[in-house]
Amino acid sequence: MGPILNGLVKLQSVENRLRVVKSKLARARRKVIFLENQLRTLQSEMEAKQEEIKLTKVQTDRLELELKSRDEHIAKFRAALNLAKTNKEYSAILTELNTSKADNLKLENQVLDLMKNVDADEAACAQIQEQIDAEMAKLGDLRKGTETQAVEYQKEIDEIQVEWDAASRDIPADVLEVFNRVAETYDGEAIALADQQNERVQSFNCNGCFMGIPAEVVNKLMTKDEIIRCTNCTRILVLKASE
Ligand SMILES: [Zn+2]
Repeated sequence: MGPILNGLVKLQSVENRLRVVKSKLARARRKVIFLENQLRTLQSEMEAKQEEIKLTKVQTDRLELELKSRDEHIAKFRAALNLAKTNKEYSAILTELNTSKADNLKLENQVLDLMKNVDADEAACAQIQEQIDAEMAKLGDLRKGTETQAVEYQKEIDEIQVEWDAASRDIPADVLEVFNRVAETYDGEAIALADQQNERVQSFNCNGCFMGIPAEVVNKLMTKDEIIRCTNCTRILVLKASE
């Protein structure tokens, strides 16, 4: 292998280390985002419940007002009952009075049911609040821990980046561009080894995609110091160093 391919192999190993630390950093940040999302879900659950309580209270107030006016109505019937002049009149008023009372009882039960709903919703709110408090505490700790971690990871990344810059310095710009492009496609894996399938047969495979490599390409790899890419996966091919 000539200096260009050798340089790329070295660069690849630095690139791999760089990616490992970068993905650690990303993973740590994702944990925070995940918890933040969970918290947001709880908060909107809480808001929905509170809105429900508000609406139920409005409905309860309305029914209670209606109940009050009906009670006044019943009082009037009662007074009228005492003033009834005939039996027929008396029994007609009594019927209306009883109907009104039955209606009121229904309304009272409705109000009671609504109040029970409010109680249940308020209990649920208290429970959600507990969860929110616990998640907030967790998030606070996690944020602190992640910040410390992130500083360390970033320091490591900066150090490896210096190595990366040094390793890429002597690689021609066009070659480096290809390396970077393929690395982006394959999560950092720009180079694939050309693997000999077995000792006896001169048959090689790309260890990135496992497709066979034509003999003339293998020949070129053995004799030239230039980038040759797998025709199938486009990774830069390098001959496995012979042991
Ligand atoms: Zn391939």
